[in-house]
Amino acid sequence: MFKIVSVLTDRKVCFKISGEFRKDSRDSRDSKNIVEKSMERNDEFYMKEAIRQAQKAAKNGDVPIGCVIVNNGEIVSRSYNKRNLKSSVLAHAETMAIEKAAKKQGDFRLDGYELYVTLEPCQMCSGAIVQSRIKRVVIGAMNPKAGCGGSIYNMLEEPRFNHVCEVKRGCLEEECSALLKEFFKSLREAKKKAEK
Ligand SMILES: [Zn+2]
Repeated sequence: MFKIVSVLTDRKVCFKISGEFRKDSRDSRDSKNIVEKSMERNDEFYMKEAIRQAQKAAKNGDVPIGCVIVNNGEIVSRSYNKRNLKSSVLAHAETMAIEKAAKKQGDFRLDGYELYVTLEPCQMCSGAIVQSRIKRVVIGAMNPKAGCGGSIYNMLEEPRFNHVCEVKRGCLEEECSALLKEFFKSLREAKKKAEK
């Protein structure tokens, strides 16, 4: 009798120990995931998603520009340039991402939201960004010929407007501008072939 109890007790102890061991190993796995998640979800993480969006635009023959909008660390909308696809000058990556995010939350005010875009926003998109009260804008490549996030104008940080954004420039700049360079290079090559 004593033996059985002893065995049972031992088993119980064994089970408890292995249970604790499993719990510990799961906890350390969870905390590792949290660490990995927070390490991944920096500005470059979101810009990489904007780059993926930009690549979709190039497939349609549109200039590869992509955009994502983030709220509390979560991507709430994604879009890419569809100017040719939709035959619309309004169909820029940023305006469409803003529209999606606003519809999702049922309010045009995007207070506290962050916008990631592969190319410096134009005058229209910079206007929409300020109007929607986006808190922070992260820009990949600058656009000296049309940019209004610091190149031609700096509408995003214009203190006379009722809303002023925080701006970070040059996030994955090389990757973002390489996309554009490759796109225009292939356009030129296609044009040369057509002329021959
Ligand atoms: Zn634009």
